Amino acid sequence: MRGEVRAAAEDRPGVYRMLSTDGEVLYIGKSKRIRTRLMSYFRCAYPEEKGARILREAYAIDWEYTPSEFAALLRELQLIKQLRPRFNVAMKRDDRHYVFIKLTRGAAPKLLVVRGAGGEPATYYGPFLGARRVNEALHELSDALSLRDCAQDQHIVFADQHELFQLTPRTPGCIRLEVKKCLGPCVAACTAAQYQAQVDLARAFLEGTNDGPIAQLRTEMDACAELLNFERAAVLRDKLHRLETLREMFSRMRFAVETLSFTYAVPGHAGDDRVYVIRRGTVRAETPAPRTARDRARLVSMVRDVFDPPERSSGAVPTHEIDELLLLSSWFRRNPRELERTKAPAVLLGARAVAPGVRSA
Ligand code: SF4
Repeated sequence: MRGEVRAAAEDRPGVYRMLSTDGEVLYIGKSKRIRTRLMSYFRCAYPEEKGARILREAYAIDWEYTPSEFAALLRELQLIKQLRPRFNVAMKRDDRHYVFIKLTRGAAPKLLVVRGAGGEPATYYGPFLGARRVNEALHELSDALSLRDCAQDQHIVFADQHELFQLTPRTPGCIRLEVKKCLGPCVAACTAAQYQAQVDLARAFLEGTNDGPIAQLRTEMDACAELLNFERAAVLRDKLHRLETLREMFSRMRFAVETLSFTYAVPGHAGDDRVYVIRRGTVRAETPAPRTARDRARLVSMVRDVFDPPERSSGAVPTHEIDELLLLSSWFRRNPRELERTKAPAVLLGARAVAPGVRSA
């Protein structure tokens, strides 16, 4: 493998794959200098080093070049998602630090905090840092909106489900119904529409279009203060603070997502320059950098196709786009000068305003 790399690999951006004897893709990596990166595998000093561990199982290496480091990042992500190589999965690091808010589906949706955004169909909001803080705030939101927080498989029966043969009285699955923290969809204490209305409010709060839960807590807090019930007012103040923190986190997230909407011109190896059309943190289209008036017209049409369809402004990011959103925000955070290569779509489309938005999951 070393001889092959030395003889054939060039020092330019690209992605590489390590393969086992039976052709399994063990690991996918990227580098802005493929040759240097691959040669470094053969210099691992300690057997426990990542490179040494991969190399012990590898039988072959192959690689492909990309126009730029940015293109290599995108290609690496695409290949990892497609092939899920064993070593990449084991070494996946960033996700552990992030959490997502998940709004489940089903008869009586509920909110919960999860580490990864994937698996079963749901709406995911995030990513956010600080699992404990998000958990506390979500707890307050569920309480304020009387949403359930019990097990996903809790039996649900709404008041408008006419269970003619259900003769035995039901008891709630937990105390939250008694203390008015849950509408009680486990004991037919609410209709499906009543519960759904609260779910819609939660969604609106998370998407920044309704501050109802905050207003409600503030009213309660003011009322307690007026009645000189300062102890209760202080409890409500803390709850309010947690919800405001959550709202703040969402507005920062929305800002980040909406900021990542532009065209991005990336110089490439040997003149292979590209333009990426990025909307809400994901690459929606890519084209060679225009060199003629005709190319430019094609780019404008591409930008129009990407930015014309309205998208809802929200903190909900489709599951399949989250990895790319994380990758792009990390890229521009690490390379802030790259933002100088970006252009607002309105610049290319003339002065026409382009409203940012997001597809719901
Ligand atoms: S009252 Fe019923 S539905 Fe509500 S949280 Fe408790 S068990 Fe779940």
